[in-house]
Amino acid sequence: MTSQRTRDRLVARLSDQGITQPAVLDAVASTPRHIFIDEALAHRAYEDTALPIGHGQTISQPFIVALMTATLFNVPRDRVLELGTGSGYQAAILAALCQRVFTIERIEPLIERARTRLQALNLNNVIMKLGDGYRGWPEQGPFAGILVTAAPRVVPEELFQQLEVGGRMVVPVGADEVQELRVIDRTPDGYDEQVVEHVRFVPLLKGVRTS
Ligand code: SAH
Repeated sequence: MTSQRTRDRLVARLSDQGITQPAVLDAVASTPRHIFIDEALAHRAYEDTALPIGHGQTISQPFIVALMTATLFNVPRDRVLELGTGSGYQAAILAALCQRVFTIERIEPLIERARTRLQALNLNNVIMKLGDGYRGWPEQGPFAGILVTAAPRVVPEELFQQLEVGGRMVVPVGADEVQELRVIDRTPDGYDEQVVEHVRFVPLLKGVRTS
């Protein structure tokens, strides 16, 4: 169930669904999603579905992870900020595609578990922080890419500022259960925005939770 073959089948399905970038498909093929999921649900790790990871949160559906990743990496990007570490799976996929990943999570037990998993995979290019990602990570910015995996009602101003010129942000936006997945490109003159998809994410919340 956790074999390379099941993972390859997931990759074939993603490719059928229009994810074409070889680097993204390779990252999915080489990242064991089952280790990011509690044992009781690990047998469902290679289904194309979101799964609960505790604390009311979910690991995103593989198609959405692949779509957001492919959208972010329309061009190579070296430093990427992720908001909402959750299980750590998306961070592991990003780590396969860029030099350095910065990721922030507000729920302490989730980030601790994610840290253990990423260490087990020897992904030493992921830098993690317990905190409120709402303001981004100004000390480490600007970033070539920002991937937000929880939905703000409006995109925080700080995130625009932490995007470098030529950088791209992929972010689900909205207060409802279904949100717009927006792509925001920073150009020398300002910002270009487009909506690529409709998605379902948990809300981006304020503050930190230690239990
Ligand atoms: N990327 C994750 C899934 C994201 S679920 C994965 O690959 O598993 C969304 C996550 O965002 C949750 O873990 C939630 O606690 C976190 N989150 C919500 N608001 C946040 C905030 N303001 N700062 C940091 N993390 C936040």
